[in-house]
Amino acid sequence: MVEKCVATIDANKALLTELDQAIGDGDHGVNMVRGFAALRDAYAANLDQDFPTVCRTLGTALVMNVGGASGPLMGSFLMAFGRGLDSFPQSQSQLHAAFAEGVEAVKKRGKSDVGAKTMLDVLAPVADLLAGKEATAADIRNCATAALENTRDMIATKGRSAYLGPRSRGHLDPGAQSCCLLIEAVCDVLESSQ
Ligand code: ADP
Ligand code: MG
Repeated sequence: MVEKCVATIDANKALLTELDQAIGDGDHGVNMVRGFAALRDAYAANLDQDFPTVCRTLGTALVMNVGGASGPLMGSFLMAFGRGLDSFPQSQSQLHAAFAEGVEAVKKRGKSDVGAKTMLDVLAPVADLLAGKEATAADIRNCATAALENTRDMIATKGRSAYLGPRSRGHLDPGAQSCCLLIEAVCDVLESSQ
């Protein structure tokens, strides 16, 4: 999962830069690549940790190594996700509980909520999906991609893109795009390991 996520972020650096150039300051690609390089190093240095502890360690690496808003927010998600588990999730309800903790942590740290055209607009719908009936990896992937597309018509009210007001409409949110890519990457790994 770590290798797949790092490779996905590296492969999409230009896309993330482009999206952030349209409605932000253009550093999202660089921020994510830097953050995930630090995450990979933290993983390599902590191979003996159990799954929840690894999630917290990797979250801390993102918080500490990304200058932009996205690192501390995504890092807070992973840290809270890890705190919400006592092993690798054994059921969808365990996965949901930890994922929902992650969403709450992003809301709290970002002083934000759904509808503000941020990463929360991908993360929260996925949490809602996990709260419902048994979901396949394909269901989760479809939910994330549809939620990402919904950010296009939103007007940003949080983060740098909020300065653009209505001019932020018509563009995908960069942080929502990176969360969607990461969720897709994790789903691919889960599918191929089944
Ligand atoms: P910066 O905005 O500091 O340049 P990045 O470009 O790396 O940092 O990340 C921008 C992304 O961070 C946005 O696209 C959005 O998804 C997310 N973001 C910014 N502010 C918030 C917030 N208050 N709550 C949730 N997500 C946010
Ligand atoms: Mg930026």
